[in-house]
Amino acid sequence: MSDNDYDLFVIGAGSAGVRAARFSANYGARVAIAEDLYMGGTCVNVGCIPKKLFVYAALYNEDYINSAFYGWKTKSREFNWRTLIDNKDQEIKRLNGIYESLLENSGADVFSGRATLVGPNTVVISGRKITANYILVATGGWPVVPNIPGKEYSITSNEAFYLESLPNRIIIVGGGYIAVEFAGIFNALGVETTLIYRGEMFMRGFDNDVRSHLAEEMLKKGVDIKFSTNISSIEKTNDELVGVCEDGSLIYADEIMYAIGRNPKVSGLGLEDLGVKTGENGEIIVDDYYKTTVDSIYAIGDVIDRIQLTPVALAEGMAVAKTLFRNQPSSADYEYIPTAVFSQPELGTVGLTEEEARKLYDEVAIYKSSFRTLKHTLTDSDEKTLMKMVVDKKSDRVLGVHMVGAHAGEILQGVAVALRAGATKSVFDTTIGIHPTSAEELVTMREPVPESIEK
Ligand code: FAD
Ligand code: NDP
Repeated sequence: MSDNDYDLFVIGAGSAGVRAARFSANYGARVAIAEDLYMGGTCVNVGCIPKKLFVYAALYNEDYINSAFYGWKTKSREFNWRTLIDNKDQEIKRLNGIYESLLENSGADVFSGRATLVGPNTVVISGRKITANYILVATGGWPVVPNIPGKEYSITSNEAFYLESLPNRIIIVGGGYIAVEFAGIFNALGVETTLIYRGEMFMRGFDNDVRSHLAEEMLKKGVDIKFSTNISSIEKTNDELVGVCEDGSLIYADEIMYAIGRNPKVSGLGLEDLGVKTGENGEIIVDDYYKTTVDSIYAIGDVIDRIQLTPVALAEGMAVAKTLFRNQPSSADYEYIPTAVFSQPELGTVGLTEEEARKLYDEVAIYKSSFRTLKHTLTDSDEKTLMKMVVDKKSDRVLGVHMVGAHAGEILQGVAVALRAGATKSVFDTTIGIHPTSAEELVTMREPVPESIEK
């Protein structure tokens, strides 16, 4: 046994750090973990969980309206933001406690405070030096705000979760996950919502049909989407904010929210002095087994900026624990990672987009279906669900499945298992559907899009 205080010191008790700490302790390592803000990190406190609770709150609005077509009579309809925030906060407090006890029950020592590195095997927390054979940096990320005049008047998703009151009008800047999710939330809660994206079509990197379908559906639901627009400064008057656009036009709002990405949280950690190499945005450079340029220092999760998703952070945490304390050098598997965007309607995807597949494969068949779900046959909603499948013609293997529509995330999880198992189109075709569901469309799309009209 070494003279160091611990085998592993983890900085950051988010998805990645907690998973690595717990499993390392379970494998018999002496583990400590430090957290300076909130137990459970971004996902639990200002990410996935409160966001999904907000999405549930938002979805009630349409259900409420649509219920009239199914015979429900409702006298009054009123939304109380305070109730949502208070109940959400209570649930998060419960989860914070669960994370703390999970760590303690695993045998890890939990330190509250900001940890910094002062040597390859030494951290300092609250003025105390602690040594460890390995240090794992799992400090996550932080929202980016552009350096423009008036930026101090803007908020990010961090603050959106704690707004004192629901604004009447909001501008959301960005065209990725957070921007479309929050645009859907605020719009459905009755806020006049403008989404501003600098490019011609948001959700870069997703399948092109999916991007345009989502944009159409969001417009139908009332989100004012302004493409090829950006804000150059923000002004504040007595009772409102003014977003001054690059073309000189003005947009008025009560809140302006930036959702333009999250940078790794590395500032002041002491990495540079130790020779830990970082990239352009501060992301820590690691090898296949998450080792940094210093042998005793590892890094995982959003701070290495590979794929900023909780299940990926968990997989990386697990891999580090196995590598260091089970003698099983391991790495997360980044193939066929499914993902859902909890926009309205929801977006689910796994595998290659049509555009990616066409670059990698000689011949690609595209199956597509756009339809009104059974639920809406009785309502006056004209929401359309999109399903799309990308197939390698030669091997018949399904390369990608994409969906925009209710429960896309729930549906795509199972599809991801099939794709990882190497499912071919004929396996989908010979699978019996579940009727009546939207998901059955995935096993009944018989005819590919004719070549002549393929994009
Ligand atoms: P984090 O969870 O950020 O944890 C890092 C922790 O380290 C933090 O608690 C931080 O306080 C702590 N820390 C930092 N520096 C120090 C220090 N010096 N000393 C001590 N502690 C420190 N992903 C999904 O898969 N699905 C979703 O639906 C989803 N929704 C999201 C919604 C939003 C609004 C956001 C912002 C993110 C969402 N994500 C979602 C992404 C997901 O939250 C992250 O990928 C995940 O939390 C990354 O985990 P992590 O452990 O790497 O970092
Ligand atoms: P994203 O990386 O998803 O999107 C950032 C967006 O901001 C892009 O549209 C980008 O445009 C735009 N942008 C970047 N810089 C600027 C700028 N200077 N001015 C104007 N626009 C800019 O980041 P998010 O903040 O939305 O989310 C961070 C990450 O968190 C996501 O990537 C995702 O991994 C994770 N997340 C996951 C969720 C889920 O699983 N459901 C939900 C929420 C977050 P361009 O494309 O042109 O570069």
